Amino acid sequence: MPIDLRSDTVTKPSPAMRRAIAEAEVGDDVLDGDPTTRRLEERVAALLGKERALFFPSGTMANQCAIYALSERGTEVLADAGAHVVDYEMAGAAALSGVQIRTVNGEGPMMDAAALERAFRSPSPFVPRATLVCVENTHNGAGGLVTPVAGMRAMWEVARQRGCKVHLDGARLWNAAVASGSPPSAFAEWADTVMVSFSKGLGAPAGAVLAGPATVMETVAEMRKRMGGAMRQSGILAAAALYALDHNVERLTEDHAKAADFAHIVDRAIAATVVPPETNIVMVDLAPGLDAATVARKVAAEGVLVGVWSPSRLRAVHHMDVGEEEARLAALALLDALDEAWRELGDTSDWPAVTGAPPRAD
Ligand SMILES: *Cc1c(COP(=O)(O)O)cnc(C)c1O
Repeated sequence: MPIDLRSDTVTKPSPAMRRAIAEAEVGDDVLDGDPTTRRLEERVAALLGKERALFFPSGTMANQCAIYALSERGTEVLADAGAHVVDYEMAGAAALSGVQIRTVNGEGPMMDAAALERAFRSPSPFVPRATLVCVENTHNGAGGLVTPVAGMRAMWEVARQRGCKVHLDGARLWNAAVASGSPPSAFAEWADTVMVSFSKGLGAPAGAVLAGPATVMETVAEMRKRMGGAMRQSGILAAAALYALDHNVERLTEDHAKAADFAHIVDRAIAATVVPPETNIVMVDLAPGLDAATVARKVAAEGVLVGVWSPSRLRAVHHMDVGEEEARLAALALLDALDEAWRELGDTSDWPAVTGAPPRAD
């Protein structure tokens, strides 16, 4: 079995979670309600301090329903340039809600209130209005970084001044809460709608919840049905999510510790720079001339799978199905692979000139 650090989505339901699934009380959630799904929705609504929550098959569908409910057709949605809603949702905002996304680049690794402020254009009859801001926390593309509650509040205030609603893509809000010590509701306070996922670090097989004000959630329920996201005996999945809330949230600190350890080891490589992790994601930036896919292949041959985030960036995500010792072994294997790739680069001293690749960094 390889040590799989490609994503925290690879986590599989544990035997105890499978028992909770098997024993779930279920009903027809589209006809007249599934009791387990209802319990999950009520629990998450309370956890996030929102009036109503709805269970979804995926975080992507929940994000898209939030964008649909909160934005206006023919306007702009502002989001970080590396946000999931920008990169990995198949242009859903344009296709389903008729909005264009205006991407925002922060001064630092991700969007903040100052960058958001600058991104807004002055009201004019010649430019589209903005109606929605999407915030992602933790921020996957930035390496699992946390926007603290104060940062959420600052972005909310900028958005409100401009008459915009705010959606929080909190696929990994659990990680942000555990890492910062602020409860999920403290982050959620500064967003109209919040999506949380159960199939990342929480280890459930599938499922996400979207929570928000009752009136907004009415529109969300319509759109969920339209998209085919209303599920019948969904308590089978909701039971896994409830189990995850009981057993798999606090333990995320272990994943964060493994990520810190992993980063510490890999950072010894001459050929790479590691983005210091705040949660469970470690981004490894390769020196010029090194190719991420090549390094990933080398380390895969040693039984360690990491993600190729870009041609020069690898991503290693820590989760409950990789133990502390395995994480350390994986880091050492990656360190070896990086060193080997670096030596190979050195061996071909005429290579940069021939290929036009960037000069070696040594
Ligand atoms: C995974 C993820 C999603 C989408 O969740 P799915 O359940 O895979 O559709 C949305 N946002 C972020 C930040 C994610 O990491």
